[in-house]
Amino acid sequence: MKGRDKMTGTLARSGNLARIDRLRAESTLPREEMRTLLLTLTEEEAQYLYENADAVRRQHYGRDVYLRGLIEFTNFCRNDCLYCGIRRSNRKADRYRLSEEEILECCDRGYALGLRTFVLQGGEDPFFTDKMICRIVSGIRTGHPDCAVTLSIGERPRKSYEAFFRAGAERYLLRHETFDPAHYRLLHPAELTIENRLRCLRDLRETGFQVGCGMMVGSPFQTVDHVLEDLYFMETFRPHMIGIGPFIPHADTPFKDRPAGTLEDTLHLLAVIRLMHPRVLLPATTALGTIHPLGREMGIRAGANVVMPNLSPAGVRGKYMLYDGKICTGDEAVQCRRCMQERMAKIGYRVVVSRGDSLVDRRDRGTEKGSGVS
Ligand code: SF4
Repeated sequence: MKGRDKMTGTLARSGNLARIDRLRAESTLPREEMRTLLLTLTEEEAQYLYENADAVRRQHYGRDVYLRGLIEFTNFCRNDCLYCGIRRSNRKADRYRLSEEEILECCDRGYALGLRTFVLQGGEDPFFTDKMICRIVSGIRTGHPDCAVTLSIGERPRKSYEAFFRAGAERYLLRHETFDPAHYRLLHPAELTIENRLRCLRDLRETGFQVGCGMMVGSPFQTVDHVLEDLYFMETFRPHMIGIGPFIPHADTPFKDRPAGTLEDTLHLLAVIRLMHPRVLLPATTALGTIHPLGREMGIRAGANVVMPNLSPAGVRGKYMLYDGKICTGDEAVQCRRCMQERMAKIGYRVVVSRGDSLVDRRDRGTEKGSGVS
């Protein structure tokens, strides 16, 4: 692996270790180098990749882990994404909507537990008009002015995004899922296009949101070239947040027999993304915790810095089933919150009481600390 560097006399690395060094130093790699890294990484080299990603994360965010209180407020959806358990064609899905009061109550409970960001996530449900979403957002911001509201409610016209922003929402998550148009068509019905998804992402950014995108790892028909496209798209787009998680099949979808994405591929990509985007907010997702009992802890060690305890009422959690086997569907919010804190403490990280804003647009460098340790 190593040879002596003629110029400096120091030991120079070769192969994947050198690629990882270069990725850390330059925050990018030429396409063929990145391709080789992703295709040939050994277990030993992967540890080196994780160590570097963790070090870069610590440089900017210390050992702080930010919490996002997730409120899954509707599982109605007008769309029919082929991988999704709450797609409109799934007649077996037990549909629900939370009332505005219930959503605000979830936030009140979350606030008492030390959460300072609330993520309102749902299918694309026309029942929730722009007016209603704005009312809910401003209700949360009025009740908890020190909190951030993140929306994750899919594709809408630009004027809707502008109204949400004016109402006080500051962040928006919209995974692009795959950048490649042909691959996108294999995962989605004809009426959904990557072009419109990208239009939404651009509109959100221009409106002023902190924007999150991301892809599924190991989705059906995905190749390493698709993953490269995703990585280089995100390098150009420079999102504030990146959400990636393994594809997990759902029994009542056309992809029910497809293999799930792997833990290893997801961890490799989390670490690569951390090295490409040192200041990005990067969640260790519930899907990662679903494919391995310690998946979220491994994700944090590979460079992630966000976890998302579930604040939805326990009675509806089992109904927001995007994929099979989803964890944390039975616990109350207080248990979820405590569980996260203990899990993070066990591996030497600390959950903080903080809005946890992205440092992507900040000019200053150095470690960002939360406003209080919980
Ligand atoms: S992935 Fe999102 S938009 Fe697609 S069907 Fe599921 S909830 Fe709806």
